[in-house]
Amino acid sequence: MKKTSLPDLSKYKPAVPHPDIREACGICGVFNNREASNLVYLGLTALQHRGQESAGIVSFNGKMNRHVGMGLVFDVFKNREYFNFLKGRSAIGHVRYSTTGSSDIKNAQPLLVTTPYGQIAVAHNGNLTNADVLKSKLEAAGAIFQTTTDSEIILHLIAHSKAKNLPDAIISTLKKVDGAYSLLFASDTDSKGKKANTMIAVRDPMGFRPLVLGKLNKSWVVASETCVFDLVGAKTVREVMPGEMLIIEDGKIIERRITDKPAKHSSMCVFEFIYFSRPDSKIFGESVYEVRRELGRQLAREAPAPGADCVIAVPDSAVVAAIGYAEASKLPFEIGFIRSHYVGRTFIEPSVPMRDFRAKVKYNPIKENLHGKSIVLIDDSIVRGTTSQKLIRMLKAAGVREIHLRISSPPIIDSCYYGIDTPTREELIASTHSVEEIREFLGVTSLSYLSIDGMLRSSKQGVSDFCTACFSGKYPTKIERKAREKK
Ligand code: AMP
Repeated sequence: MKKTSLPDLSKYKPAVPHPDIREACGICGVFNNREASNLVYLGLTALQHRGQESAGIVSFNGKMNRHVGMGLVFDVFKNREYFNFLKGRSAIGHVRYSTTGSSDIKNAQPLLVTTPYGQIAVAHNGNLTNADVLKSKLEAAGAIFQTTTDSEIILHLIAHSKAKNLPDAIISTLKKVDGAYSLLFASDTDSKGKKANTMIAVRDPMGFRPLVLGKLNKSWVVASETCVFDLVGAKTVREVMPGEMLIIEDGKIIERRITDKPAKHSSMCVFEFIYFSRPDSKIFGESVYEVRRELGRQLAREAPAPGADCVIAVPDSAVVAAIGYAEASKLPFEIGFIRSHYVGRTFIEPSVPMRDFRAKVKYNPIKENLHGKSIVLIDDSIVRGTTSQKLIRMLKAAGVREIHLRISSPPIIDSCYYGIDTPTREELIASTHSVEEIREFLGVTSLSYLSIDGMLRSSKQGVSDFCTACFSGKYPTKIERKAREKK
């Protein structure tokens, strides 16, 4: 047998958050409903998992009203008086997550500006990959930026457009931008240039991020995920298709394409299924729960753990994959950790010399269930390796005999430039270490990841319709050098 060299992880330090903007977001809009801003508020609470740093709503009824704030949706809109101010039969909203360095109220969305096309608000989920080049050009032409988000670039390009109406200005703008964008615009001017509420939903030609259309009686609802529709009582109509623009005006929806030629295939983010979206949502036309369970089943077929006593999950994101693994391997699924739902990102580690508080305050193993056992531990992903490291330490302290760690995604070897928050390449443990080295570093009996092929076959979509850049290093669009350097 080939001898594997011992891993040199002595200098491996889990990184501090990177100070550049990497956004993961959720968006939601309601058109033609007297409770529009209240419904958007509810929708944003259903999308809270997509962003916990800031939240905001713009309501519109002739005049546009905006309230944004830092923190969770519940905190930002704690004062019910905001809803007296957020008047109007239509509203759009946004939740945002970015790393600490760019945590700033000025970047909270929706952004609201006045342009030659009237007042425009925008909520953006995704990340532009040629933002720096576009921004430099705009600044050279005299544009003054109020925020450091790439979403503002879209507004500047629209304001500079010579198109005769807003939908055309958006289309000519989007022809200049590369990368991922699911967008919601609010406008006080309709497609004919008349003063009237208009909501425009657009998805980039490769469909990186999800966006779905729903109906609530006579109102339209657009959201990142269908869990919003379940909460507000709307029915799912369909996805906003890659490269499609829906202009939602009084009484009708106008469908347009934003590119002359459709993309050969889409590049939907497979990580939405693995980790990011809620399992009670349907995105990209498929149930997240079903795909996630199949990821677990596939993992069991590829990497069984004979002799293990039970399967446990890292809660909550790996629970569904663990159920799939248990089902396919005919092992019992057990609860191994209790996760506290009351600690968020704001948790401050007390200044006492004890390790692992951050993980311990969130997870506690059920010792009676684990002592002396050989377990299969399922997590959806290993990013820097710090979560697994701490949980494994806890499991060992709880008396677990053997840990077979199984990951329901392939090794993450490269950064995401399309809107999922991932650290730099160097900080990703799998980009610099082999599976055996990671196994040894974590101190587990065995470690296996799901294969790229197995991951893609867990969905009903075509295998070439997904972006797998973080697992394969193959980026479906050009990534500008500066964007790479930032990561
Ligand atoms: P790490 O400790 O850096 O290896 O992170 C791995 C853990 O973070 C796993 O338990 C995942 O469920 C979770 N995770 C994966 N991707 C992300 C992300 N983009 N943001 C926050 N958590 C994540």
